[in-house]
Amino acid sequence: MNVSAIALLGVPGAGKGTIAAGIKEKSSFVHVSTGDLLRDAVKGRTEVGLQAEAFMKRGDLVPDNVILDIVMERIARDTGERKYMFDGFPRTLAQAEMLKTQFDARGAVLFRVFLLEVSSEVALERLSGRRICKKCGANFHVVNIPPKKDGVCDVCGGELYQRADDQESTILNRLKIFHEQSAGLFSYYEEQGVLVRVDSSRNWKTVVDEILGMIAPSA
Ligand code: AMP
Repeated sequence: MNVSAIALLGVPGAGKGTIAAGIKEKSSFVHVSTGDLLRDAVKGRTEVGLQAEAFMKRGDLVPDNVILDIVMERIARDTGERKYMFDGFPRTLAQAEMLKTQFDARGAVLFRVFLLEVSSEVALERLSGRRICKKCGANFHVVNIPPKKDGVCDVCGGELYQRADDQESTILNRLKIFHEQSAGLFSYYEEQGVLVRVDSSRNWKTVVDEILGMIAPSA
């Protein structure tokens, strides 16, 4: 298996989805968002979806083994040489360690981990104004990235909606959980020499260009 990957980490609202979409447009990375995979599973009423739904509604993390299974299953769908961009994964130290075991066994490598940094205030403001296309999943923001026509996706004309877990009480729980459960990841990746901290309070296009500049030889 000739596989390599980068990961985008950051508090909910750090801009992972928007930045991943920008990188995807200008590179050959395959975007793998665990949040999107889980939402699809919930929509499709699959076994994973039924297991995950209650955790997601509360803004809690879905169990690590479920997450690893959906990621490895997603990767197994492709063949040949490929590069993945993980978005919102890993979220815990246990996930990072399980991923390393799986990757080592396959000769795959996670060569860069970008930590998108924003303050809690910015994250809260971004999440509460976030709107997503029902059809193609494109991300907008009522103030920062407004669609040309209210409630309508610029990309495909689909209807925009607000995620159920983007309500303020759930957002606060998601931010708290990130600080409690994801913090251990940063020193883990720092020790491996793959962590890069990026100021994600800037315009998303600037952040995309900066990251592309750092992965350019392999983009
Ligand atoms: P996101 O779209 O990345 O904000 O994820 C939405 C929700 O999916 C999270 O609040 C969690 O409930 C769940 N989720 C997504 N990725 C993970 C992960 N790597 N580990 C555990 N739960 C996750």
